[in-house]
Amino acid sequence: MPSGEIGLVGLGIMGKPMARNMMEAGYSVTVFDLVGSAMEEVVTDGAKAASSAKEVAEAAPVVITMVPDSPQSEAAILGPNGVLEGASAGSVVIDMSSIAPGSSQKIAAACEAAGVAFLDAPVSGGEPGAVAGTLAIMVGGKQDVFDTQLELLESMGGSIVLCGDYGAGNTTKLANQIIVAANIEAVGEAFTLAKKAGLDPNVVFEAIKGGLAGSTVLNAKGPMMMSGDFTPGFRINLHRKDLNNALITGQQLGVSLPVTALVQQMIISLVNSGEGDSDHSAIAKFLEDMAGIKISGD
Ligand code: NAD
Repeated sequence: MPSGEIGLVGLGIMGKPMARNMMEAGYSVTVFDLVGSAMEEVVTDGAKAASSAKEVAEAAPVVITMVPDSPQSEAAILGPNGVLEGASAGSVVIDMSSIAPGSSQKIAAACEAAGVAFLDAPVSGGEPGAVAGTLAIMVGGKQDVFDTQLELLESMGGSIVLCGDYGAGNTTKLANQIIVAANIEAVGEAFTLAKKAGLDPNVVFEAIKGGLAGSTVLNAKGPMMMSGDFTPGFRINLHRKDLNNALITGQQLGVSLPVTALVQQMIISLVNSGEGDSDHSAIAKFLEDMAGIKISGD
């Protein structure tokens, strides 16, 4: 059974179940979140509370961060009272947040300068995957650090792949998010067309899901569009953040991402009409509005 002290900064939708899985696997976990109430649940479950990210790093030689985006990762790790202020040479920082790859590389350089090892290790699988401990974890960093942290990552994930050097985990996550966004948009367009042509989207779904158009996205998001239930899941606001990071990265590398940019325009419009906290399958709502129908309508 694994053992050891692990720190965790960021106890949101994902961080809380990840803390529980690490404790269940045998690790002792020290936690911090800017929101005090976020810590209460996991402390009740057996975690130790710290009063800053710095204090977490003083208590544990391996610190995981799970915060929303690049500015929060940089604040939690590099900022005042952040992880690096409490870490010692030989400590390990694993940032599991989905952030811009360039930001991961900046954090990695600061960690290296302090003698601290770093991995970027964003995840896919959402809250259900975090609860079940079956997350897909995409890792960037050095092979030897990856090897020493694999057992820890296995307490949270079902598939763990080292994708390359610093930032590669987050570049892989952006690839994932581009495919998911474009796939949701295509499913939304297809069902909107079928509905306006007078077909039953459920029948279309049954007819195509076993063919080449079949996908995990079609199976997970098609039924949400057909029922008109866009309860999250993965919020539009988070996907906006990820596509923004993809577009920034494309710009830095000189890569055109035309479909990503187009879906981002739809997402901005949806946020303006109050859909930011809806599931990202609500991208279909933009297409429904343009066609003047509801996929779920009579
Ligand atoms: P969340 O907003 O629910 O939680 C983030 C937590 O971080 C909050 O409790 C916040 O108070 C805390 N926080 C922010 N800045 C902090 C700081 N400087 N110090 C300490 N705590 C800080 O977000 P989430 O859904 O748990 O997502 C976390 C990351 O995982 C994001 O990058 C997200 O894109 C990614 N992700 C989320 C999902 C999902 O389905 N929710 C799926 C895959 C990946």
